[in-house]
Amino acid sequence: MKTKSFLFLLAFVLGSFLGHAREKYVIVIHGGAGVMSKERMSEEQRIEYKAKLNEALLLGEDMLKNGAAATDVVVKVINILEDSPLFNAGKGAVFTHDGVNELDASIMEGKTLNAGAVAGVRDIKNPISAARAVMDKSEHVMLSGIGASEFAKQQGLEIVPNKYFYTESRYQSLQQLLKQEREREKKDNMGTVGCVVLDTEGNLCAGTSTGGMTNKKYGRIGDAPIIGAGTYANNLTCAVSCTGHGEYYIRLGFARDISAMMEYKGLSVDEACREEINKLSAMDGTGGVIAVDAEGNIALEFNTSGMFRGYITASGKKDIAIFKDDN
Ligand code: ASP
Repeated sequence: MKTKSFLFLLAFVLGSFLGHAREKYVIVIHGGAGVMSKERMSEEQRIEYKAKLNEALLLGEDMLKNGAAATDVVVKVINILEDSPLFNAGKGAVFTHDGVNELDASIMEGKTLNAGAVAGVRDIKNPISAARAVMDKSEHVMLSGIGASEFAKQQGLEIVPNKYFYTESRYQSLQQLLKQEREREKKDNMGTVGCVVLDTEGNLCAGTSTGGMTNKKYGRIGDAPIIGAGTYANNLTCAVSCTGHGEYYIRLGFARDISAMMEYKGLSVDEACREEINKLSAMDGTGGVIAVDAEGNIALEFNTSGMFRGYITASGKKDIAIFKDDN
């Protein structure tokens, strides 16, 4: 026992000396990637977005400092972003072609590889909470539409009328697209939210929540609720949350591919994320990704002009940024 403690201490001291000590905790969030320009976003808007990202990060940090589990942090932090009309998740969800809001979300735990997701739901106020309930309280991984709502009701989650998700700006985005008869315009989808966490126990968790893409049709489901596409976590490698043009993320198996590159090719988390973003660019897809590995190393990569993003680590690193050249 004594030898064991000594070896542990030695590893810790050596690790710290070499700069490889695991971060005690890390939280990384995103609020969507897309076409963003400094000219089109006023100073007030930037302040508003950054303040909301900061509020979410500080809540997460406070929970982590007090020993909260990664899963609880991911859900609470995403709840804050879902309740804000600024982001394309929960309250600020984009509109479908038919003028309603249909939401997707998923969550995954790195320790157990447990996962839960809801897709195409119209009346669950906080889809990430429903995704967690699917993970913890059902024998399934993904529930959709009316069935998912029924389950959420049974779990005592808050149900709201679809018009709760109405925001004038998202509605106008749809009208503009319909008028222009354009299939999609990437800037209108901006604002999916995601969170990845390493907690004090060394466990990873990832979650993603979205309204999908403006003008989506026929019950379209994106990558966000698909485990391995928009969300993935494995304590052996990393936790990943994605935002961008979902069809590409599904085809690439984006989040799982990052984990696989770390596991099978020995890439670092940022190398793996960069390589995956390169694959996305090669297909002409757009978007971004956040990730944290089991040691607390983080990656925030995107091939768009901006991504709402931020992180805090136990060792005191912190940043909140929007545009590509912000840091
Ligand atoms: N990935 C989301 C979707 O395709 C949208 C986004 O992140 O902007 O539904």
